[in-house]
Amino acid sequence: IIPQSPLLEVKRNIELKTPLVKGPSRLPLPGSRLKRGPDQMEDVLEPAKKRTRGVGATTKIDTSRSRAPPITTVPQTQGHTAVQKVPKKTGPRCSTAITAVLKNQKSVPSVPAQKPGSTAAPPMVGGKKPSKRPPWDLKGQLCDLNAELKRCWEKTQTLDQENQQLREQLKESQQQAKALGTERSTLEGELTRVRAQAEQGQEQLGNLSARVLELEERLGTQEGLVQVLQKEQLELQEERRGLTTRLEEQERRLQASEAALSSSQAKVASLQQEAAAQAALLAERGDRLHGLEMERRRLHNQLQELKGNIRVFCRVRPVLAGEPTPSPGFLLFPSGPGGPTDPPTRLSLFRSDDRRATLSGAPASTTRHDFSFDRVFPPGSRQDEVFEEIAMLVQSALGGYPVCIFAYGQTGSGKTFTMEGGPGGDPQLEGLIPRALRHLFSVAQDLNGQGWTYSFVASYVEIYNETVRDLLATGTRKGQGGECEICRAGPGSEELTVTNARYVPVSCEKEVETLLHLARQNRAVAHTAQNERSSRSHSVFQLQISGEHAARGLQCVAPLNLVDLAGSERLDPGLALGPGERDRLRETQAINSSLSTLGLVIMALSNKESHVPYRNSKLTYLLQNSLGGSAKMLMFVNISPLEENVSESLNSLRFASKVNQCVIGTAQANKK
Ligand code: ADP
Ligand code: MG
Repeated sequence: IIPQSPLLEVKRNIELKTPLVKGPSRLPLPGSRLKRGPDQMEDVLEPAKKRTRGVGATTKIDTSRSRAPPITTVPQTQGHTAVQKVPKKTGPRCSTAITAVLKNQKSVPSVPAQKPGSTAAPPMVGGKKPSKRPPWDLKGQLCDLNAELKRCWEKTQTLDQENQQLREQLKESQQQAKALGTERSTLEGELTRVRAQAEQGQEQLGNLSARVLELEERLGTQEGLVQVLQKEQLELQEERRGLTTRLEEQERRLQASEAALSSSQAKVASLQQEAAAQAALLAERGDRLHGLEMERRRLHNQLQELKGNIRVFCRVRPVLAGEPTPSPGFLLFPSGPGGPTDPPTRLSLFRSDDRRATLSGAPASTTRHDFSFDRVFPPGSRQDEVFEEIAMLVQSALGGYPVCIFAYGQTGSGKTFTMEGGPGGDPQLEGLIPRALRHLFSVAQDLNGQGWTYSFVASYVEIYNETVRDLLATGTRKGQGGECEICRAGPGSEELTVTNARYVPVSCEKEVETLLHLARQNRAVAHTAQNERSSRSHSVFQLQISGEHAARGLQCVAPLNLVDLAGSERLDPGLALGPGERDRLRETQAINSSLSTLGLVIMALSNKESHVPYRNSKLTYLLQNSLGGSAKMLMFVNISPLEENVSESLNSLRFASKVNQCVIGTAQANKK
């Protein structure tokens, strides 16, 4: 803040351009008042006094005013008004002087003050003129004029003097003004300098306050930072304490671990010794296991032998929707010696002898026919239950025993259902062929762990009317049948093959499914070509199984045959034979011949006859290696539950019973 100084006040006055000379000034005008004394003023004003004498009129002056106003009061006289404008330039100093004189005299001249410096002003004749003289009083008038002239002359004198004084005063004032001007310029210079200084100071102050603000801000930031750092430091100290504790803990644990490690190392050494001993033991056990497996196979074979190398299972299919319900007790399944918990092995069939009853007129009598087989499956038996019974037999093929499973029975008794399965691809209804193959693949996989490697090759043929047709034919041969012949695999070889038939290596369920599907398609094509051909032909699914135990130099080869035989029904001999019927008769004879040949072959084998008539039919010829002494045979006899089929059912059961009575040699594994 720049302090207020008298100097500045002066400066302001200068700026305001206050006239130093004309306006009132605080600075005393040297000698202005002293030069003119009141007496002198008296003299000056005397003529005026004299002029107003006699007029008797006085102008009242406001004496309360201590200072003279810049404009002289306009006096008013009674009856006569002489308005004289006082020039504005009338110096105040003069006015003051006059006023001062007037004060002293307590009277006001009738003539207002005239500008002192104005020499050009005409002599004033103010106030009331003296009473008019009569025109004739020329002497009087002259006298008046002389007096007037004298007054004017005196006034002129006075004014000259006054003028002189004022000139001097002016000169003085001008000098004074000059001095003041010099002072003013000095002061202005100083003021400029001071202002510049002030501005500089102001600027510096601004800079400084900005800097202060900045520094305050920085201080605030730094303080915040310090607080954060302090907090961090505290946290770090805390963390360090925690880490120290943890480190100590870890060290303790490390020590414990080291101790444990050394004890573990000792243990490992002893365990390694143990492991070596175990490995030796394991090798020994492996050898023993192999021995046991061989023993198991031998015992299994013995069991099969005890059961007989030919076994017969009877399966009765359920009554289908739309078929007449047989009278209760038509078929019975008596329980075995072990009670109802024993699996059934017996079947009783009741046949009413209608014809005899009709002839004699006596009431119809019924004849009971009892049969006993290795196993009987009543109508409710499921596919998996049936397979469970033959699983071991199928498995023995992996041990090198040829296996042959037949389905025998009249058309519609359930042979195809048993062998291939029910319609619609329902896994519950899968037949023996897919189940047997899945089982073989799975067991072969297990035996792989014991060093055995197995391979399987499948073929599927149909023997119709003593001709062989490939059911796995594809492309142009599909459904055509082609010319297939059964012949020896090589000169002097025991092995038989079917020429032109496909032998397909299989290793999984999916591949088998594909083959069965293809066979069904092939049969369907043939079916449209020739009526009911599928039921009048034998379907032979053959699987050549080869196993090898490389480590022990063992090999075993055996075929598994799954045969869906042609319908066993005979033609009614009483029927008249038309031209179409004759063909059918020939077919039937061929079927009957091949089925009876099968029976004869089994019989001959059972009776150990020197000649076995394999060559009498294509079927027995193809299967001769699987029907020999070492082979295992199973026959399913499929029975219809319907009373109308009772005659055919009896025939089938009789045939099966004969087969069941056969015992063929001792099975021997086909091992090298
Ligand atoms: P086949 O081959 O002896 O001529 P199928 O196997 O074709 O006889 O069977 C004839 C009909 O009986 C088929 O519709 C079949 O689905 C049905 N069938 C046969 N056996 C059974 C069974 N155990 N359970 C249910 N349906 C069966
Ligand atoms: Mg069939």
